[in-house]
This record gives sequence, C-alpha cells and structure tokens, in this order.
Amino acid sequence: MTGAAPPRFRASILTLYPEMFPGPLGASLAGRALGEGLWSLEAHDIRAHATSKHRNVDDTPAGGGPGMVMRADVLGRAIDAVAPEGDTRPRLFMSPRGKPLDQRRVRALVEGEGVVILCGRFEGVDERVIEGRSLEEVSIGDYVLSGGELAAMVLVDAVVRLLPGVMGATDSGTEESFESGLLEYPHYTRPREWEGRTIPEVLLSGDHAAIARWRRAEAERITRLRRPDLLDR
Ligand code: SAH
Repeated sequence: MTGAAPPRFRASILTLYPEMFPGPLGASLAGRALGEGLWSLEAHDIRAHATSKHRNVDDTPAGGGPGMVMRADVLGRAIDAVAPEGDTRPRLFMSPRGKPLDQRRVRALVEGEGVVILCGRFEGVDERVIEGRSLEEVSIGDYVLSGGELAAMVLVDAVVRLLPGVMGATDSGTEESFESGLLEYPHYTRPREWEGRTIPEVLLSGDHAAIARWRRAEAERITRLRRPDLLDR
C-alpha cells in the first residue's frame, strides 16, 4: 500500500469545547496544510473522562473564594489517555501565569513531533495536575481570556505556518518580525501612487543592496521606536 506519510506534527488538544476546533485553524494556510496531511489536529473532550454521576469536571476551590477549579483526577485521566507514557511531545497548559510565548519557543516547537495542549476554563486547574503531569505553562499575553482554546489556536497557528511546505516562499518565515530580533520593515505594493502617497524611491530603484540597507534601517528605526526592549535582548 502507498499510504500518505503520517503528519510530521501532531497537535492534541484537551478541552471542554472540542467543537471549537479546528475553527480558524481549518481556514487559509493552516487549513490547507491540515487537509493535505502536513499536520494533524485532534480535539479531545475532557468531559469524557469524568466519572461522577453528573460528569463533573470542576469543583469549588479549596480554601474558598470565587469560581470553580478543574479537577486533578479528571484531567490526569484525560492527559494519560491522550498522551500515554512514551509520548514525547511537550505538554503545555495555556495559562496567563505561563512564560509568554515568543517566536523562539515557536521555532523550537516546529522542530518537534507536535504538542499536547490543555485548555483551562473557569478559575483554572488544580495545581497538582500541573506538577504531576509536568505541564509547561504558556501565556499568549498579559490579559485574561475566558478559556485556553483561543490561546491554543494562537500557538498552533504560529507553529503550523512554519512547518515545511505550509508557506509558499521557502524563506518568507525568516525575514519577519522577531526572527532577526527586530520588527519588520514596511511593505508597499501597487498602485505606485495612492491618495497622493508614493512608494519610497529606493524600493523602485532595482538596487538590491540599497534596498536591503533601507529595509534594515527601517526595521531598526521602528523597533527602537515601538519596542526598544527587543534591542536590549
Ligand atoms: N484565574 C486565572 C485565569 C483563568 S482564565 C488567573 O487569574 O490566572 C481561564 C483559562 O483561560 C485559563 O485556565 C487558561 O487556560 C486560559 N487563559 C486565560 N488567559 C490566558 C492567557 N493570557 N494565555 C493563555 N491562556 C489563557
């Protein structure tokens, strides 16, 4: 038999809302690559691992306080079913307490076999499951979402577009914002004049060295202006 090669990158998502997937990941670049089998996506329903009569996945916080907390026993079983021993993929927990996601982490994930991602809901998850299953907490920014699903989609989208064969031009990933430690230079295309605004002359000169110098200078200028913290790194 001449079956297609298995996808190089497998994303397994643990969520209370599996119907949210693939969602936006089913469209455009990521969606086409998904259809072509360049990567795979499974959304697993955490509730399938609840054993109580009412299939509870959450309970009140120990010590009191508002909201509900996702139970360690249910999550432990769910993780073990999706990523049994021997599954070497990183296990991530989307969390505002996590290390902020950056392009470097995204690049490292692209090199691996995939990810297992736990999406939190309510106040979050029982701390013991984070410890007991060695979950790496990852944040997508300093704000609070209502659940980890959108955060997981952000991470998976950032990774999948860098998989071989997903983006058209082979190097269109390497000159972008953050890849060189700088924000990207400005882009222009047709028409040559729009509402009285022209395209910088150098870009029309055909002088590739001059264009490269201009782009580098613009990238540095914009980074210094908007994100001086990137230059310090
Ligand atoms: N009580 C928590 C917030 C819970 S929000 C706190 O104060 O830290 C519910 C879930 O949404 C979280 O468990 C997490 O999975 C997800 N989430 C919210 N904000 C996020 C962010 N910035 N990055 C990644 N995941 C986030």
